Amino acid sequence: MAQTNSSPPSDFIRDIIEEHLRTNKYQGRVAARFPPEPNGYLHIGHAKSVCLNFGIAAQYGGTCNLRMDDTDPSGESLEYVESIINDVRWLGFDWEDRLYYASDYYEQLYRYAVQLIKEGKAYVCSLSADEIRDYRGTLSDLGKESPYRNRPVEENLDMFERMRTGEFEEGSHVLRAKIDMASPNITMRDPVIYRIKKEPHYRTGNKWCIYPMYDFAHCLSDSIERITHSICTLEFENNRPLYDWFLDALKVECHPQQIEFARLNLSYTILSKRRLIELVEKGYVIGWGDPRMPTVAGMRRRGYPPEAIRNFCARIGVAKNENLIDMALLEHCVREDLNERALRVMGVLRPLRVVIDNYPEELVEEFECPNHPQNPGKGSRKVPFSRTLYIEQEDFLENPPKKFYRLAPGREVRLRYGYFIKCVSVVKDPKTGHVVEVHCTYDPETRSGFAPDGRKVDATIHWVSANHSIPAEVRLYDRLFQVIDPTSEGNDFTKHLNPKSLEILASCCVEPSLASAAPGSQFQFERVGYFCVDPFDSSDKALVFNRTVTLRDTWTKISEKEKR
Ligand code: ATP
Ligand code: MG
Repeated sequence: MAQTNSSPPSDFIRDIIEEHLRTNKYQGRVAARFPPEPNGYLHIGHAKSVCLNFGIAAQYGGTCNLRMDDTDPSGESLEYVESIINDVRWLGFDWEDRLYYASDYYEQLYRYAVQLIKEGKAYVCSLSADEIRDYRGTLSDLGKESPYRNRPVEENLDMFERMRTGEFEEGSHVLRAKIDMASPNITMRDPVIYRIKKEPHYRTGNKWCIYPMYDFAHCLSDSIERITHSICTLEFENNRPLYDWFLDALKVECHPQQIEFARLNLSYTILSKRRLIELVEKGYVIGWGDPRMPTVAGMRRRGYPPEAIRNFCARIGVAKNENLIDMALLEHCVREDLNERALRVMGVLRPLRVVIDNYPEELVEEFECPNHPQNPGKGSRKVPFSRTLYIEQEDFLENPPKKFYRLAPGREVRLRYGYFIKCVSVVKDPKTGHVVEVHCTYDPETRSGFAPDGRKVDATIHWVSANHSIPAEVRLYDRLFQVIDPTSEGNDFTKHLNPKSLEILASCCVEPSLASAAPGSQFQFERVGYFCVDPFDSSDKALVFNRTVTLRDTWTKISEKEKR
């Protein structure tokens, strides 16, 4: 079971649970659930809820169910269900045999509705949707009772059954709870609990043409599953009295305690399924699993380890007040995890040819390079070295400014795990004047990385052997939005998309050990960043790497500069 922190977390929700355990409110049981609506992919906000619910179950020896809250045929699909199952499992959690569907409770929910009608607590209302809205009133105006409110029980039972058999048109009738049109809480003003919808459901097909409303189905599904703690986000605080009303009115055996916490808001992205769907449908990204998306699928493809996501969720904790978490914290957690996990390799993103004039033409040496300099246990590998290398274009400057310490004419640098080389001349493209090849000499005495005469160099640069390196495509992913809160100004959040969120480098060169790298495996390209082998587009013949995260946080620096 996934747990990242050694000391058990503590927060207001756990305080409540511990109080319930002390007072024996649920006979010592802790039963939680994660209840997504299968109408989109899970995002990092959902991951917070997943970690919370499964984490609580693990901590208190309880259970956590996975339940699809699939009460609305429009927008729900098997694709979403499968993605949710896959994502929760990948995050490291196990619901054992407790995968449930609200749609499996339709019959029971129907019986509950009938029970309410029989007790005079629900009625079939034949106002139109607009009329219902008008009658409901506002925060300042009390609601008005529907003229159908006092329909006799027998008539309600008859009409509700005929709603079920498909006799009526969509929108002609609804079933409403009979609560209080004068309640200061608008949610309590005779809410709709069933509506006619002549749309097939991805699981129940055409069996039903009436569907329970979320508020009705959600709390009763929790009760049916004998959930003790129904943990949800703050926007459901106003619905709690309604949930309690349903559970009391139906005298159910198990009455879960709802507890609300603040949803995760993350800077430089959006966590709203509606808006994420828009990004997908309008083609701003390549699907839900695009590595720039804040979805679990996107983060997985980008190379975020599940441990890093769990650790992030543990660090942000849960609270009762809304706040905005800095994306830099999530990236920090990813870096911290990959720093331990990722094997070091050398890859050159923008190659510049280097010829070592005094190195024998046919000679190839093999350097033994540690896979993780801080962790010898991770072993080493052989990296070939020869006369012609590639280095990073940005590691050479013909006319270096003062603080540039890397390669330049007349300057000596160290090659990572190898010799000192000194630039003696350059070859330029006659048309553009750009340097296309750098000629160097090497000092055979510096194989250890140090000069026997004690002379020092100011920089160490990475390299690959030109003839031994393998070509690769590298996709440099960056933040999807260029502002902290893309939804702050009006509705058009797409105008804040970062035009540089993806840069594709088609002619990178990586060391030969990467030829056999497994899809999804993670590496640190020394001095460059963390990368993973793209799980879908990479193959033995054409390697594709995704940049997971840069080595350092460049965004905080940029935004600090802007503040100045
Ligand atoms: P959205 O508003 O993005 O459409 P939702 O709340 O409608 O999301 P659900 O599928 O109903 O999506 O969410 C399943 C669970 O995840 C719910 O318990 C919900 O409270 C929780 N959840 C959703 N978004 C967040 C978030 N940003 N932070 C924490 N928990 C969240
Ligand atoms: Mg929801």
